[in-house]
Amino acid sequence: MEKIDFSKIEEKWMKIWEEEKIFEPKIEKDKEKFFITAAYPYVQAPQHIGHARTYSTADVYARFMRMLGYNVLFPMAWHITGTPIIAISKRIKENDEFLISIYKNLFGVPEEIIKTFEDPKNLIDYFIQEIKSGMKRMGFSIDWSREFNTGDKRYNKFIEWQFLKLYEKGFLKKGKHPVLWCPKCENPVGEHDVLEDKKAKIEEFTLIKFYLDGKILPAATLRPETIFGVTNLWINPDADYVEINVGNESWIVSEKAAKKLKLQKDEIKEVKNVDPKELIGKEVFVPLIEKRIKILPASFVDPNNATGIVYSCPAHAPYDWMALKDLGKMFNANEIEPISIIKSKHYGEFPALEVCDKYKIKNQNDERLEKITQELYLNEFKDGITNEKTGKYAGMKVSEAREVVKKDLIEKNYADVFFEIMNKPIICRCNTECSVKLIKDQWFIDYANLDWKNISKKWIEEMRIIPEIFKEEYKNAIEWLHERACARKRGFGTKLPFDKNWIIESLSDSTIYMAYYTISRVINENNIEPEKLVPEVFDFVFLGKGDIKEVSRISGLDEKIINEMRESFLYWYPLDSRHSGNDLIPNHLVFFVMNHIAIFPKEFWPKQIVTNGFVLNEGKKMSKSLGNIIPLKVALEKYGADTIRFLLLFGANLDQDTNFTENMARSIENKIKEIFEMVNNVGDCNDEWIRSRLAHCRDYVTNAMKELRFRDASNYLLFIFGDEVKWHLKKNKKISKFVFENWIKMLSPFIPYTSEEIWKMLGNRGFISNDRWPEKMERNIKAEVEERYIINLIEDIKSVIKLSKKDWVEKIYIKAAEEEKYNIFEILTKNKGEAFKVCKDKKIVEAMIKFMKNNNYFFDEGGNLVRIDEIDIIKRNKSFIEKEIGANLEIIEKDKEFLEKEKLALPYKPAIYVV
Ligand SMILES: [Zn+2]
Repeated sequence: MEKIDFSKIEEKWMKIWEEEKIFEPKIEKDKEKFFITAAYPYVQAPQHIGHARTYSTADVYARFMRMLGYNVLFPMAWHITGTPIIAISKRIKENDEFLISIYKNLFGVPEEIIKTFEDPKNLIDYFIQEIKSGMKRMGFSIDWSREFNTGDKRYNKFIEWQFLKLYEKGFLKKGKHPVLWCPKCENPVGEHDVLEDKKAKIEEFTLIKFYLDGKILPAATLRPETIFGVTNLWINPDADYVEINVGNESWIVSEKAAKKLKLQKDEIKEVKNVDPKELIGKEVFVPLIEKRIKILPASFVDPNNATGIVYSCPAHAPYDWMALKDLGKMFNANEIEPISIIKSKHYGEFPALEVCDKYKIKNQNDERLEKITQELYLNEFKDGITNEKTGKYAGMKVSEAREVVKKDLIEKNYADVFFEIMNKPIICRCNTECSVKLIKDQWFIDYANLDWKNISKKWIEEMRIIPEIFKEEYKNAIEWLHERACARKRGFGTKLPFDKNWIIESLSDSTIYMAYYTISRVINENNIEPEKLVPEVFDFVFLGKGDIKEVSRISGLDEKIINEMRESFLYWYPLDSRHSGNDLIPNHLVFFVMNHIAIFPKEFWPKQIVTNGFVLNEGKKMSKSLGNIIPLKVALEKYGADTIRFLLLFGANLDQDTNFTENMARSIENKIKEIFEMVNNVGDCNDEWIRSRLAHCRDYVTNAMKELRFRDASNYLLFIFGDEVKWHLKKNKKISKFVFENWIKMLSPFIPYTSEEIWKMLGNRGFISNDRWPEKMERNIKAEVEERYIINLIEDIKSVIKLSKKDWVEKIYIKAAEEEKYNIFEILTKNKGEAFKVCKDKKIVEAMIKFMKNNNYFFDEGGNLVRIDEIDIIKRNKSFIEKEIGANLEIIEKDKEFLEKEKLALPYKPAIYVV
């Protein structure tokens, strides 16, 4: 066998598929459609094998559905919205060595090309071509006639229309809004713009004002209801503090807090530095409870968290209790009595004291305090009730008291609010730590809208979600959504149609673009000018609103073209399957569902979402910092498309991460080569067994594919049925074209190049990619039982030989069970007790029971015993068995004393004796 040149095969079919346009479906009214999309890639770097998993999953599914007879559409486009691309160009211009080395060494981009990335347009063009050629090479059955990018002016018109609709329906709001902010870029930072794609958790702290000689110390808390248990104030004696003017008030806060406050308040003026040591021991006044308390030092106070000042509620806060204990007699801290203000079923009067004792906490710097604190807070939040110490707030649930106390404090100007990142640090792609900025006049999408949330959750319930275990996660994600800033002042993208200073950000302009695919072909082919795509056109095409003559007049578009778009949308929508990584469930995927619900009538809401886990490289997560990313281009050259596709689908179930290993890739490659070699064995051979196994394989794989259990399907095809084909070839030397071809057909979604090539080698016309999936076939259970009998017999003989420890076996005697035993066996399968009655020899029945425990291949699909003539089967297979074990076979038809004494022949398990 000559060496197989996978890259030559890939190039050949890629070209032919493209020339013949076999993946560019047209409307076929008599054919049921199936519309699949996978998230369009963000074009700022080449793709690696991790990206390829989602697209491979979508493509295998697309190819399968196509073979089932559906008219399948699987389009692709490019995402360029936002600031990342501009930021990269800037860094290239600044000669950023780290970035340049990643492009050069990790992704193999030539140096002279990297230089051109100073212009973002070059960067976009380069990576679109790069990613596109990788996708083609991978054999993805994509309709490229619908391609666009999110910077395309015509796409911008579509997004404008989407935002006009959201605006009309009241889903867009303007107001003050906390956003993640990069002080260097001076721009809000989206999830895509931060290193490691970490999602910032922003919380709203209450700043309670404590008064000291006309100055204010604002202490930050997430539990304002605990103000009734306050005993003292904490500041960090080793941190830097400053006095600032906030409006007409003077505040003392940490230096870091002052910087952050500037992003959240209008007029902040720094006055002077303040030495925290001079404040310690002084008394402050707490207005709401009209009480004076001392300022004390504590090292646990983090100057980088909120204001760097906190108040102490030692009854309910483990840190506070431990800090007081650490001070001991200093400042008479030991005389401070904790004040209990919350009752809950989990604790006695002083929960913090209790848990510190229980865990034997050493001091305020004990690392376990964080976890213990979280647990205590959660327990009190869940079922705590405020007690009489809280005055008019007594008897409330903690969750309720928290809101009311906060509201009252703010109304009386005894408190303010402050937004803080809880999972610091979040680093912008420009390498600067982000803060929270309160933006005025910020546009946001009101994902907090309760009606919208409820309808969306209900729809998730009706959708097919794969893997199904994630259904709850979608609903939880919707539950937790709040308003989301949807526009920024900089970057690529679409301008807000009613406020052109704003550009719609990248997670907001990619929620309903699947609808645009249905018309982008018409737009591309007719080269429609952007100005003609007025809102009335989209209203007509997507919502069926308006009169076509009027729409044509307003837009200047031919009625024919408008109708074509409308028809195309009606034919392809709704989306049948959306594919993406698991990590996009809490943002992109729920936005995708919610925006469809907001804009389209119910019959166009998406029907199914399929997600998958990550790809690991030899057990490790791939990352730029580890330098262990496998670029797709490199993997394609090394292993070929079919091997990579197969591995990505076979490696793990969709809910799991999959592990890419060199070993696994090589073993799959070898299996594929074996299949190529088998083509030489295709010929006349009529074997009932392999045909029947094919029928079984077809049923198993079809079900698995329909349920998107691609791991099960691929494993069965290549390894289980593959081994059966090998067994068959061992016995018969030839395999029928029918069996081989149907096997290859089922493999073709996974390994399309190999399959297309073999299809041709077998002398077929047309494309396997467009051929029909095998129809259901009759099984021949008897043939299957007989073959299994032979396979088991050979194994048994081999183990008997091994056990005999003979160097040389001359002859093997075999004796099958008598008819009478078959009768007992049959009774036994129906009624155990009856079998013991009929058979006098208890030992025989027990042996049968034991045997049956591990063997059940002799039942038909109705659960009835399939009777076989063992002697006849052995005779028919005699020479094959002899060859397999290298000894002569002697069949004993009549009882031979010596054999029966030592070995018991059971149905399907003959007695074996070697000499
Ligand atoms: Zn930045």
